Amino acid sequence: MKFAQFLLKNGAMAGIPKQVERFAKFSPSPLSMKQFIDFGSANACEKTSFVFLRQELPVRLANIMKEIDFLPDKLLGTPSVQLLTSWYSQSLLELVEFLEQDPNDKRVLSNFTEALVNVRNRHNNVVPTMAQGVVEYKEMYGVDPVTNQNVQYFLDRFYMSRISTRMLMNQHTLIFDGSASAANPAHPKHIGSIDPTCDVVEVVRDAYETAKMLCEQYYLASPDIDITQFNAQHPDQPIHLVYVPSHLYHMLFELFKNAMRATVETHETSLVMPPIKLRVSLGSEDLTIKMSDRGGGVPLRKIESLFSYMYSTAPAPDLQGDNSRNAPLAGFGYGLPISRLYAKYFQGDLQLYSMEGYGTSAVIYLKALSSDSVERLPVFNKSALRHYQSTIEADDWCMPSKEPKKLGIH
Ligand code: ATP
Ligand code: MG
Repeated sequence: MKFAQFLLKNGAMAGIPKQVERFAKFSPSPLSMKQFIDFGSANACEKTSFVFLRQELPVRLANIMKEIDFLPDKLLGTPSVQLLTSWYSQSLLELVEFLEQDPNDKRVLSNFTEALVNVRNRHNNVVPTMAQGVVEYKEMYGVDPVTNQNVQYFLDRFYMSRISTRMLMNQHTLIFDGSASAANPAHPKHIGSIDPTCDVVEVVRDAYETAKMLCEQYYLASPDIDITQFNAQHPDQPIHLVYVPSHLYHMLFELFKNAMRATVETHETSLVMPPIKLRVSLGSEDLTIKMSDRGGGVPLRKIESLFSYMYSTAPAPDLQGDNSRNAPLAGFGYGLPISRLYAKYFQGDLQLYSMEGYGTSAVIYLKALSSDSVERLPVFNKSALRHYQSTIEADDWCMPSKEPKKLGIH
């Protein structure tokens, strides 16, 4: 049963397909880092933010809900994906209610903030729940390249949409939390979750220390770190950036866990453990962070599949009641793909370069200028639709596995 049909049968949510159609007609409006900062600066206006979000959040939700409907039926029908779609419907309905309400009424504004907190909490477990749906599907039907490609395309967009809606909701609730001063006492200069002078190396050290603690708990050893900065803009000064420190931390923490695990496992029997090398450079356009380990590397053939949601999902540890504090260094295999989304969210990227037999370098590219840091958002349109309708076609390159014909040439 398709998502829309499922909802029609579900009385309370009967209005949903109409709302999805209504809001999916609009394209999401990507915000720049500057706009995020303006929304939270001294003359921050809660009313303006409210008027923008009550339209923009439904637009972003509806755009991605249209795509959910194009997932393979067998994945859509898993209990996990059904649960997840009911969260999206509920949240859409709750947000749409505010369209009729008066922005000048203080109670409306505070109800809206409360609604955002509810929506955010409802969606807390979207990632493990979706991962569980993928596991359920895989256990029943296995994996084929076309499904893998569709699911990869969808999940990159789905999780990107989620990163973006959480960013919007966090900014609004952090900046207008109802108290007289919404400033974060620990970080008075932060604007919501954005640090206008984010010290990159400080975040690197934070992420390294936490990953090191986990690594020591698990392996009783961990590699050292060697950090170098190259600031081509202001030589000899620490590198700063307008960015969301929690996003940067997320990426670095995932990369450190991977690098540490690979290093420790390939040097178990040796006396010296090679350090992880970290280089940060600031150019006029890019801020680049390169993390190099000597953990033995990965063959080139496998690199792409490391970013695959379908090939790498192991059962989600969270959903198996495993709440032990001894979190292992490897979970259900979403470390790399989700980190790459965080990098891409503000027009950056994350790539892996490996020398099998030696080690791996993971590179995070971020935009150096806040004017280039603009949200990268999926939009549901004909081109998106075409992706879901692709079928298996014959490869237009010869298959190397076939034995060459014997032509009798000597
Ligand atoms: P999770 O990160 O969700 O806890 P995971 O580490 O298995 O689980 P990813 O971080 O996406 O998932 O990494 C996928 C796989 O890529 C790893 O299991 C590992 O085999 C390989 N890999 C990643 N980074 C490295 C590295 N630096 N050196 C060697 N192999 C790596
Ligand atoms: Mg990992």
